Order: sequence, then C-alpha cells, then structure tokens
Amino acid sequence: MSNPSLLILAGDGIGPEVMVEVRKIIDWFDAKRDLKIDVTEDLVGGAAYDKHGTPLHDDTMAKAQEVDAVLLGAVGGPAYDDLDFSIKPERGLLRLRKEMDLFANLRPAQCFDALADFSSLKKELVAGLDIMIVRELTSGSYFGEPRGIFKENGERVGINTQRYTESEIDRVARSAFELARKRDNRLCSVEKANVMESGILWREVVTKIGAEDYPDVELSHMYADNCAMQLVRNPKQFDTIVTDNLFGDILSDCAAMLTGSLGMLPSASLGVPMENGKPKAMYEPVHGSAPDIAGQGKANPCATILSFAMALRYSYDQGAEADRLEAAVEKVLADGVRTADLMQAGAAKPASTSEMGNAVIKALDESL
Ligand code: NAD
Repeated sequence: MSNPSLLILAGDGIGPEVMVEVRKIIDWFDAKRDLKIDVTEDLVGGAAYDKHGTPLHDDTMAKAQEVDAVLLGAVGGPAYDDLDFSIKPERGLLRLRKEMDLFANLRPAQCFDALADFSSLKKELVAGLDIMIVRELTSGSYFGEPRGIFKENGERVGINTQRYTESEIDRVARSAFELARKRDNRLCSVEKANVMESGILWREVVTKIGAEDYPDVELSHMYADNCAMQLVRNPKQFDTIVTDNLFGDILSDCAAMLTGSLGMLPSASLGVPMENGKPKAMYEPVHGSAPDIAGQGKANPCATILSFAMALRYSYDQGAEADRLEAAVEKVLADGVRTADLMQAGAAKPASTSEMGNAVIKALDESL
C-alpha cells in the first residue's frame, strides 16, 4: 500500500517559517513512529504570483486534487495589495476551497490551561474549553444569487441572498454529526428559524437527519444571536456546533478568540469523500501571513503544527498520534515556553519560531 500523501503550500510571510517547524515534526513521526507521509511542496499566493503570474498554477490545483491532504501556511502581503482582485494571493486560497468543494470548515476553540489567562473572559469560564464549530463554507449568503449593487427607484440597493438547498444542509449536518460522535456526542445546530425561511429549512433537515441516522447524538437548536451571547456567557456548555456560512464566520471567530492568541488556532476544511473513504481536506492556521513579523523568527508555529495534528486525525486515521502531538504542544506551554505573541509586554525573552518547534520535538521525544 502506498504512503499517505500531503501537499504543503507554505505561501507568503510567516507561512514558510512556520512550515519549517512542521517539516521537523513530519520527520519526527517518520523516524520515531514509522509514520511515513509522502510530502510534496508547491507555491500558492504571492509566491506563486511571483513565479507564475497567478496565485495558484493549474498544476498545483491538479496536485491538490490528487493528495490525501493539503497543508497551507498563509497567503498575502503588502507587496500584492494593489494587484487586480482576480490575481490577489487570496484568490489562490479561494480557488482551492471551491475546486476541492470543501464545504465543511472545522474551527476548534480549545483553551490550553496554561494560556487561560490570555482570554478576554475570566479564567474559570475558559480553562479546559473544547468546542468544535462546523461552518458551512461553500453556500449561503456569500454565494447566493442574486447579488450585487443595483439601481432601484433612483437609488442604489445592495443585495445578497441567503440560499441553502436541502442537500447542502444535509452534507454539512452529516459531517457535524459524525464529528460529534467522535467527541462528546452533543450537537447544537444554529440558525435563525424565527425570522428566516432558510433557517426553518435548516432546522427541519438537521432534525430529520438526527432522528433517522444519529439518534445517539444529543441534538439541540439555538438561534444565532442567542448562541453569540451564550458563547461569551458560558462557552463550556457547547461541544459541537453546526451552522451556516455567515453565522459560522462570526461565531467561529468569536469562539476562537476566547482561547487567547491567533498563533494557536488551527482549522480544517473538509469536502466529499474520496475513493479511499477519506474526505478531501485542506488544513491551515487561522492566522494570516503576518507581514509585520515575517522573517524575524518571531512567529508562533503552533497553529500550523496543530493544523497538522488535525490532518493526522481526519485524513490519516492517526487519532492517537494526533493526541500525542496536541499533548506535546500542551506540555510545552505548561513548561512555560512562549513565543512573543503569548507573552505579556515586558516579560522575559520569548522563544523564537524554531525554539518553539524544537521544544515540541523534545516533548514528543519525552512522550515515547
Ligand atoms: P494576520 O493574521 O496576518 O496578523 C494579525 C496580527 O496577528 C499581526 O500582528 C501578526 O503579527 C499576529 N500574528 C498572526 N499570526 C501569528 C503567529 N503565528 N505568531 C505570532 N503572531 C501572529 O492578519 P492581517 O495582519 O490582517 O493580514 C496580513 C496578511 O495576511 C494580509 O495580506 C491578509 O490578506 C492575509 N491573510 C491571509 C489569511 C490566510 O492565508 N488564510 C488569513 C488572514 C489574513
């Protein structure tokens, strides 16, 4: 049987720096756990534009369709700000998501105890927090037609359309039910069925799937505005949340920041299952290319390392090794290793990107 495959697209800014640390971790799993992954690397974003005049070359897109998983660093930077919209670095990312049909965006909001002080909420509200938000990514009001700015009765009107088909709701709901089963078996479906027909349909479809195919998963429903309030009032009440594209965009950012730093947040986007039964998948940190610190060895590599842990769990069926990697990151933080983004101003000397990566490797060694 061939080895599982990974396409690394490091991208721009701090992307390549943090990816160096992930390569060390991939090499560690190969050497110490006999976990062999066939890795190829290619360009995306500004780096691809510099070489090919496009933020994603067709050959790279074709490679992304073939591999078991894509791991992306970050794209963008001031050098590309004035490019035409159609060739901006971000278009490379959007093309990957669209052509791989990555409809389920997984955003964990997990608070490592050692970082609970970094949250804007009280420590006791967030310590031990572990939520998974599943956001529908390819439909809803960011894509629905009609859309645009039109003239009507002598003035301009801006229009976007919230539109969901039953099958679009069905597939993201099933992904969320499956995830809930691997977690605490609780799913909260979020919409605004009180004022939106798309919300009524969403609730009906999710309820039917739950009753017919996932009776073991405890299903609840919540209006999106209440969910936003509950996330800051008592976030630990949630386990898995499934919601649409627009509400998911807002709620996942809100939940993620309960946990402290952007440098710690991983994500995954999953699509339809391939022949081997695994979903098409792209893993990436939530943060961007951080041009303000790029090239200075200051970037926190943990978000990208934890994104790789998600790949181990969801694309390579290596849940135990994913646990091992996440525990190694947790141990490093508990031992007090901090990159600059995890330190209060004026604190002791921060760890560099490579020192943080090396500390994770050391913790992995100690886990054996
Ligand atoms: P950003 O996430 O790049 O940076 C925001 C702030 O967080 C900066 O101060 C940065 O130094 C800090 N930061 C981010 N990641 C960090 C890390 N790993 N370690 C330490 N500090 C970290 O967002 P931005 O400044 O709004 O955008 C910069 C560029 O990135 C823009 O071109 C934007 O379009 C792009 N961007 C790309 C993605 C992506 O590739 N998925 C996402 C967001 C923004």
